[in-house]
Amino acid sequence: MPSSPPLSVCVFCGSRVGASPAFEAAARATGTLIGRNGWQLVYGGGRAGLMGAVADAALAAGGRVVGVIPQTLMDREHGHTGLSELHVVQTMHERKRLMAERSDAFVALPGGIGTLEELFEVWTWRQLGYHDKPVGLLNVEGYYDRLLAFVDDMVGAGFVMPPQRELLQMDASPPALLQRLGRLAQTATAPDDYSRT
Ligand code: AMP
Repeated sequence: MPSSPPLSVCVFCGSRVGASPAFEAAARATGTLIGRNGWQLVYGGGRAGLMGAVADAALAAGGRVVGVIPQTLMDREHGHTGLSELHVVQTMHERKRLMAERSDAFVALPGGIGTLEELFEVWTWRQLGYHDKPVGLLNVEGYYDRLLAFVDDMVGAGFVMPPQRELLQMDASPPALLQRLGRLAQTATAPDDYSRT
């Protein structure tokens, strides 16, 4: 019987390391788990910040790592030349679409506005039916507590429906969150359609 391809997990995270050592530790733990599980990491292709930490940890644990980076960011985000695959694309849009196409699940770690943009985009794409893949948020040291509380306020205000809110998987522990995303990714059935993005 042909073996199924390894689960491919897309990680969005900061291009900086952030102020707490817990952020980099969580990025390393995430990369290590992806590698140890024999999974593939898909990410933004840089060496900078938490992005570099997750990629280096996944590689060190024997994982395949696919990076997707726009040409214009090769210098700023230090394009990682040691990856299994590095795709240098022309636009941010191409980057996000290729990352989504190559992934079975998405997870956001602590990061800045780029990370939030990427998280909210795949979450809205899921809501719109462009893909059927799980989306998770790793809430390290409560970094995202106030964002999650605001999303609950959005539900209370009638702008977000509870089922949309429930599409976002949340945990503070990398193993717990990755295990849940891995399980949910097996049940995704609908084909991708990014033609309307
Ligand atoms: P940050 O969280 O701001 O450190 O950025 C994390 C990653 O998100 C970096 O690779 C940025 O290039 C990327 N990024 C920034 N802005 C955007 C955007 N509009 N769309 C997609 N990715 C972005």
